[in-house]
Amino acid sequence: MEKTTYIAVIPCPGFSHLVPILELSKRLIHYHPHFHITCIIPTHGSPPTTSTAYLQTLPPNIDTIFLPPVTTDDTWQLSDPVVQINLVLTKSLPSLHNALRDLNSKTPFSALVADVFAIEALDFAKELSTLSFVYFASPAMTLSLLLHMPKLDEMISGEFRDQSEPILIPGCVPLHGRDLPDPVQERSSQAYEQFLQLGKRLYNVDGILLNSFMEMEEGPIKALTQEGGGNSNTSTNNPPVYPVGPITYNGSKQEDLECLRWLDKQPSKSVLYVSFGSGGTLSQHQINELALGLELSEKKFLWVLRAPSNIASSAYLGSKNEDPLEFLPQGFLERTKEQGLVVPSWAPQIPILSHSSVGGFLSHCGWNSTLESVQKGVPFISWPLFAEQRMTAVMISEDLKVGVRPEVDENGIVVRDEIAKVIKCLMEDEEGEEIKKRMKGLKDAAVNAVKDDGSSTKALLEVALKWTNFSGV
Ligand code: UDP
Repeated sequence: MEKTTYIAVIPCPGFSHLVPILELSKRLIHYHPHFHITCIIPTHGSPPTTSTAYLQTLPPNIDTIFLPPVTTDDTWQLSDPVVQINLVLTKSLPSLHNALRDLNSKTPFSALVADVFAIEALDFAKELSTLSFVYFASPAMTLSLLLHMPKLDEMISGEFRDQSEPILIPGCVPLHGRDLPDPVQERSSQAYEQFLQLGKRLYNVDGILLNSFMEMEEGPIKALTQEGGGNSNTSTNNPPVYPVGPITYNGSKQEDLECLRWLDKQPSKSVLYVSFGSGGTLSQHQINELALGLELSEKKFLWVLRAPSNIASSAYLGSKNEDPLEFLPQGFLERTKEQGLVVPSWAPQIPILSHSSVGGFLSHCGWNSTLESVQKGVPFISWPLFAEQRMTAVMISEDLKVGVRPEVDENGIVVRDEIAKVIKCLMEDEEGEEIKKRMKGLKDAAVNAVKDDGSSTKALLEVALKWTNFSGV
């Protein structure tokens, strides 16, 4: 019998960070049943039921340990999600250190694999004599930006959003500074400094597993793996990067839910699915415009609605107990009862995207949602809110051309007419047909990448071999 290889994985808080790293773990176990994976989870408050329900579905050779929840003050909710996550991580480090030391003394780890926002956990790798790997569950474009940040920081003065020239990131389409991730928008902010330091730290890890694949992000992936990277003869000192995606969660078997039954009754590809991820929120004004834009489009819709907030990421790590339907414009539900369905707060996204009635996805361009939609071949209306979502929106609409992006007015609002226009463009115009054809090609490539002989499976097995053969630093 093959010797057991022990791996510790460390996610950062939030359902959409926990699931990708555990889905990666499941793929590893699938190909290497002799691996044993322990997932050590930093928490803030008690974990959401979506996370605990998911954990119950894991195979026996993946263990999970919750670290004691950290406490924060009232100002926490107002900070950037990167700062929030970082704080929870930093406060969890002592208990994480204890857990790792304890486990490593009994069954020594071959590798620590941390979510990129939990990179501080990799500081313990040396003491434990293990390899240190990052799981990067965001686009290659963002990774390329992070690794390029130290240079950009030196080269560019003033705010990025005020630059007249586009920002050039290795392998990426030129980007307007205002489409860079939130932490980069305010150079004097704590989030900026943390983002920059993260970019510098990434150069010290033994490798980076990237949840993306060549056909989707050819430019940045080539820049990361061929020109840079220790896995080729290179002139730069990028760490080795392994594209192992798309890795997504296929969801548990769904009961007989109202929204799926409603979809069953709609014509093929007629419905626009509208959702802003696990925590994205719109302002009250924007909810009104979106509602009236959907109505104006006269297209079918299935809208997952969250109560309003002026902070787009406010529900990311937990939200208030409010009924979202109360925030819709007067009479909207009655007027649109034949046209659409509004689901409060949460819906089973994968079954929805897999449903034959769904023909488009108005999405906040979170990376999991983006990959899930690509795997199901559903084209986008890209409506980015926070984090690196604007970069992903540029990738979707300008680079891959598998979606349309509505214009935002001078007050930062997408008005109803613009919403109706992009919906019609995607769901009925010729341009929409071209977008759908390109999406079909991308879907096929996504499916192929994770087949047994696919490029991403090969990259994963290359890393697994390194871990199996590793015998201490
Ligand atoms: N999700 C879901 N139902 C919802 C909202 C989100 O199942 O109503 C899942 C979605 O399928 C995806 C994740 O939550 O796997 C959201 O991750 P993403 O990276 O797209 O966005 P984030 O939540 O990080 O903003």
